[in-house]
Amino acid sequence: LFKSKTNLKHCLCSLPVYKVFENVAHHYDTMNDAMSLGIHRLWKDALLHAMHPQPGAQLLDVAGGTGDIAFRFLEYVRSQRERQRRRAVRAVQTPSWRDISSSYSSEEDGEEAGPRESGAVVCDINKEMLKVGKRRADSAGVTAGLSWVAGDAEELPFDDDQFDIYTVAFGIRNVTHIDQALKEALRVLKPGGRFMCLEFSKVTNPVLARLYDAYSFNVIPALGEVIAADWKSYQYLVESIRKFPDQEEFKFMIEDAGFFCVKYYNLTGGVVALHSGFKL
Ligand code: SAM
Repeated sequence: LFKSKTNLKHCLCSLPVYKVFENVAHHYDTMNDAMSLGIHRLWKDALLHAMHPQPGAQLLDVAGGTGDIAFRFLEYVRSQRERQRRRAVRAVQTPSWRDISSSYSSEEDGEEAGPRESGAVVCDINKEMLKVGKRRADSAGVTAGLSWVAGDAEELPFDDDQFDIYTVAFGIRNVTHIDQALKEALRVLKPGGRFMCLEFSKVTNPVLARLYDAYSFNVIPALGEVIAADWKSYQYLVESIRKFPDQEEFKFMIEDAGFFCVKYYNLTGGVVALHSGFKL
């Protein structure tokens, strides 16, 4: 699955973005809750609901940081699997005509062994972020089906056609060549696979936009200073949001990379947008 690793630390530690996330890694989860008033959890849940992954799906979460998306994914597929198992038990105990016919069609399809286990790979350029994530996973006992790989979104250390779903949450705006990262997403997805991106975007309501501007330019760096003693890194994060293309422009970029059926949904009035597209 994995291509040979390059010495990431050696070639990337000179990049400011690497330094930013090295600085914030240990306060990242606390800061995420503080900066978004916990709303980032709802945005991530919305991503999972839109994805609706089925047991057996293989996920690659790029710029996955401390693993929030991968944890949610594994939790979601496990609850789906449990629901399917309970339905199967009920069908054996009190079979209805629908259960009997669906059990016949499963057997004909050769599905009686059930789908293979789902897996999630968290890939991030920053080893500190991965280290914090791994520690979180160990203490929560979430280890089965989860792997952590250091890698650059622009040059993913995976073979072609490997994953059913590629996600990138609040990470793509930090990538230097977004078009190259999108090409890599297309390459590693299986045909029929889905690209999903959660990213800060352009607020559509002018009043909300003004409030949001005031909040992000004044409050976020100040929170960074209070919680992590690091004004600069959080100022960088706010500036990177401002420079990122708006919803429509980013949609065109995804289409340009070769994805089909590209759509987006605004969350919280466009503070965040969820883009999705398919590899055919
Ligand atoms: N996805 C996580 C989440 O939603 O909590 C983390 C998002 S964090 C704001 C951005 C992440 O992007 C950082 O962990 C950073 O190291 C990673 N990153 C930045 N540039 C990257 C690149 N070129 N390739 C892979 N990861 C990158």
